[in-house]
This record gives sequence, structure tokens and C-alpha cells, in this order.
Amino acid sequence: MPSPDQTSNTVDFETARKQLLAASQAAKHSKRPLTLADLYRQLNLRLQTSLEIDRLLEMFFTDIQGVLPFAALLYRHEETDLQLTLGSPAAAHTASYRLHYEAEELGEIILQDTQRIDDHRLNQLEALLGCLLFPLRNALTYRRAVQASLRDQLTGAGNRSAMNQALAREIELARRHGHPLSLIMLDLDHFKDLNDSHGHRGGDEALQRVVSRLKRQLRNVDMLFRYGGEEFLVLLSNTDAKDAALVGERLRAAVDQHPFEIDGQPVHLSISLGSATYRAPETLEQLLQRADAALYRAKRSGRNQLSIAL
Ligand code: GH3
Ligand code: MG
Ligand code: MG
Repeated sequence: MPSPDQTSNTVDFETARKQLLAASQAAKHSKRPLTLADLYRQLNLRLQTSLEIDRLLEMFFTDIQGVLPFAALLYRHEETDLQLTLGSPAAAHTASYRLHYEAEELGEIILQDTQRIDDHRLNQLEALLGCLLFPLRNALTYRRAVQASLRDQLTGAGNRSAMNQALAREIELARRHGHPLSLIMLDLDHFKDLNDSHGHRGGDEALQRVVSRLKRQLRNVDMLFRYGGEEFLVLLSNTDAKDAALVGERLRAAVDQHPFEIDGQPVHLSISLGSATYRAPETLEQLLQRADAALYRAKRSGRNQLSIAL
């Protein structure tokens, strides 16, 4: 058998990316007006240079303006909780596409314009949307991997690593811009009893159900984190003490209101909560400690209640 050529399988992503960008910049700066074919080639190059979905769609939307202008582009991908809006939404005329690759859902793209979108424009648009398919698929795979690395596997709440990143970022914003920032620490009441009566599997099921009920009460579901065991932290950016207390009470009531179905049986559960609002120049540890002390007070005062940190 002839020996195969010795080709290296290593791809230097950074060099490749720079070459692609340089090629697309050259195409951009040539004097001749862009044709649809040029644009197609340009997009095929440029869209290989990012794994970030917002970057991809921004490049797509900006690049098509010269040949095929639209007022706005909206994108939705429910599975990964993504919604983006580019340009100025103008609902008058819309063209909407559900993107698929084999069985994989790649989201929905809606293009909007103030002018009627005729068949000629639609045909051109459809040809260009083809350039998005593979880059979008790769970017979604990347997004899922990043999301998985930041989520608690059992409940789907953010994990400790996601929590630490979010807390560091939010504390910095609160310090620099004086934005209010509140935390709610919460813990399930008498959870040991539930594990004893329904087994560890029943306990796990309860944790999943409680989290999904809590998430339904929160505007930004990415701000709920599993702190440990059956203890969770809600990070409320731009929220003062008064509003944090309202959120806390809403969470408490949502859990207390109806029984949960665990292993086919109705089980009543409750949570105790402690809320704390950032006071400059305290440290993150001090803020967490105050929320924790408030939670402890809520437990001591009889559980199924919210206590506000001093
Ligand atoms: P309290 O009202 O004082 O919070 O009482 P509690 O029984 O909930 O006490 P505590 O918070 O100290 O107990 C936590 C229990 O939660 C102990 C542990 O067995 C259980 N637990 C922690 N993580 C998990 C989990 O992932 N799955 C299950 N099923 N149980 C867990
Ligand atoms: Mg507990
Ligand atoms: Mg606990």
C-alpha cells in the first residue's frame, strides 16, 4: 500500500480566522458594487470567523444591507433560551423562516421591513440564509456546551461556577455605577423528612419541581443558582431591598400554594428565605453572609417565611 501523504490535522484557528477576515475585508473595500454572488462568497468567509451567535447574526444583517436592505432581524432559539433583535423592528412586512439542519432545530429568523418584500427579494434572501446554516449550527453546539458547563445537572439551575462569575460581575457593576443589587438565599424546609419518607429519588424529583416553579416566577431565569444541596441563590440585579422583598414573597407563596406531585403523590413543601441588598463598600463575602444570616433567622422564626437582612 502506498504510504499516505503526511498531512497535519492541526488547524490553527486564530491564523485561519485572520486570513478569512482579511479576505472578506478586501472584498468589502473593492470599489465595484457588490453583487449577490460577491455577497454570498463574502458571507461564507466571514461567518466562519465566530462561534458567537450574536456576532454571526450581526455580520449577516450588516453585510446584506448593501444588496438586500431590511429594517430589522429578529432571532429566536427556544431550546437555548436565546432571543436577539437587530436594527429597528418594523412589523409592517415580515419574512419568517424556521431553520433546520436534518432533525436539528436551528431557530427562527424573522426579517422585517417597512417596504413590501417581493418574491425577488425573498429568493435572494433565501439563498443568503443558506450561508448561515453551518455557522449557526456550530455556534449553537458551542452555546449548548457552554450552557451545560454552567448548569447544575439535576435541576438545570446555574451551578456554583456560573454563580461565582455572575456575582463577581454584578458586584463590580453595583460598585462602579451604584446600581442596586439584591440577593435571596433560600433553603427547603424539613427536606430531610422528605428524603426519609420518599427516598433520595423522591427528594431529587422534589428539587427539580421546586426549581421549575421558582423559575416561572423569575424574569431572568439565568439568575437562579444551586448554592449547594437544597439551598439556592437568586441574584437580582438592579433591584432594591423593597422589590427584592416582593420577589422573595412571590417565591415563597409559589412553593407554599399548591402541593407538588412527587412519585405520584401530593407533597406539601415550603421554603425559607433571606434577602440582602448590597451596601458599598462591603465585600461579596459580607453580602452573602448577611443573606445567610437572614435565612437563618427565617428558619428560627418558624420557616416558610422571608427575612430581610439588617
Ligand atoms: P431545615 O428546615 O432546617 O432546612 O431542615 P432540613 O431537613 O431541610 O435540613 P438541612 O437543610 O440541613 O438538610 C438538607 C438535606 O437535604 C440533607 C440532605 O440529605 C438533603 N439533600 C441535599 N442535597 C440533596 C440532593 O441533591 N438530593 C436529595 N434527594 N437530597 C439532598
Ligand atoms: Mg433545608
Ligand atoms: Mg440546607
